[in-house]
Amino acid sequence: MNMEEIKLLKDGKRLDGRALDELRTIRIEAGVLNQADGSALVEWGKNKVVCGVFKPGECIPRHEASPYEALLKVRYTMSPFASLEEHGRSGPSRRSTELSKVIREVFENVVLTEEFPGAQIQIYIDVLQADGGTRVAAITAASVALANAGIPMRDMVAAVAVGKIDGRLAVDLGKDEDNFGQSDTPVAIAHRTSEFLLLQMDGQLTREELMQATAMALEATEEVHAKQKEALLQYYEKGKRGELQL
Ligand code: ADP
Repeated sequence: MNMEEIKLLKDGKRLDGRALDELRTIRIEAGVLNQADGSALVEWGKNKVVCGVFKPGECIPRHEASPYEALLKVRYTMSPFASLEEHGRSGPSRRSTELSKVIREVFENVVLTEEFPGAQIQIYIDVLQADGGTRVAAITAASVALANAGIPMRDMVAAVAVGKIDGRLAVDLGKDEDNFGQSDTPVAIAHRTSEFLLLQMDGQLTREELMQATAMALEATEEVHAKQKEALLQYYEKGKRGELQL
């Protein structure tokens, strides 16, 4: 297939009818799992991501424990039915290892790990359905799940991907836009400080485009943050627990 032939914009609109600065529909629910200390479900367009978090506990293996801070253990996995693409059966892949690592690094910046020396904090992310942008949906879910578990953090984190399709910058790329566009740049931003905790880039953007893309990401993550906040407020207002509604 010739990538040049695939048109991702028609009359200024994207193939799913969205404007360039429009996010897919995002639904977030906190506290969806009974056996995790904190959890969240994020439905972001066709993505479905669940995150379960365990409170600080004994670090295993013990020789890894740090006397100064808690270790974050992050495991991102994509279920075998998450996508049409062949991605082997369960078990770690290069991609899931990378994603687990970058997600861990995001949260090492905001979780107050120094309050729990010798401990580990486990964050499990399961992608049930994937449609482009699962790492940003995963980060968004993990931030809500950590807050839901009552784990102290300096800040909440919201994430979004910005990219370039048919020569134009667009927020929140879907899978086809991600695969056939010219750039995919996922970012995660701390809400209070606007600090960028993740910035990856596939493809190419000029310096000006990157500046513009980051400004678009800042604006879009405000919207994502509002949904996160709403989900947490709703959880604590209604005292909901253990209802996984897909
Ligand atoms: P992200 O999900 O964060 O956008 P990628 O850019 O690696 O991460 O992938 C883009 C999309 O392509 C994914 O959301 C998913 O829909 C699909 N995809 C990528 N890698 C795989 C894989 N190994 N197995 C199944 N689907 C995949």
